[in-house]
Amino acid sequence: MKVETNPWGRWREIGDRVFVRRNRTLDVNAGLILGDERCLVIDTRSSEREGRELYRAVRSITPLPYVVTLTHSHFDHCFGTSVFAEAQPDCEIWAHERCRAELAASGVQQRMEIAGWLRESGEEVLADELDAVTVTLPNRTVNAADVSLDLGGRQVRLHHPGRGHTDNDLIVDVPDADVTFLGDLVEQGAPPSFDHAYPLDWPDTLTRLLDQVGRVVVPGHGDTVDAAFVARQRSEIAQVAELARKLPPQLEDAELEWQANRLAVGGAAGFIALKRAQEHLAELAQLQ
Ligand SMILES: [Zn+2]
Repeated sequence: MKVETNPWGRWREIGDRVFVRRNRTLDVNAGLILGDERCLVIDTRSSEREGRELYRAVRSITPLPYVVTLTHSHFDHCFGTSVFAEAQPDCEIWAHERCRAELAASGVQQRMEIAGWLRESGEEVLADELDAVTVTLPNRTVNAADVSLDLGGRQVRLHHPGRGHTDNDLIVDVPDADVTFLGDLVEQGAPPSFDHAYPLDWPDTLTRLLDQVGRVVVPGHGDTVDAAFVARQRSEIAQVAELARKLPPQLEDAELEWQANRLAVGGAAGFIALKRAQEHLAELAQLQ
């Protein structure tokens, strides 16, 4: 008899004292890494209600003081941050410097857009939750240089590998457990998300990562994967970049949609990806 196990809402230890928790909303992942003196929480979910739930889940595992890391500036990864900041007032909140800049410049705008979109989809309760979010800015930033965090008897590395899903994706490496958290640079169970992406740069960013990732790779959404999965998703995104470079500039949307249907990432994601790539190609052409 096949036993169905619900993959959501529980911690799974995927390496020595390294945990991942898949959350049902958007199938988004949160991570938890334990040191001897403090722990690291990776991403805080989409709202303060969800942040509180995650906070309680962290406390079900450890009483240690925590550090928070945000993988990028999208609401589903960082809108629960205020819960962690309030519960521990000296809390370090790490992110890429452009993640901080993006949240400072347009975090409130993002909140309004997502709440509006939820309301239009009939999700009144979730929309109200979004409206109630206090956008909390990171207070520690990473730029071009790697950052090593000492959790007590264990070091984790934060670094930005280049533009991809956004311009502010941050990777968390746990070398002694052979685990890497990639944020939305990789997605399992859904196509990569291109709304704020750099499809022309993304394949090279993943290429640079391929020989660095651990045995276990945690995507921003979905089940854990491995380097072979990252390589396959890299090929799919490279296919987008190649097609975008071949197409004539300023194609009509109908033509782009038709072209997108040929892509392995699927027509819907592919259309957004081709639009973004065409915008970037037009910018590059203007610079020449
Ligand atoms: Zn994202």
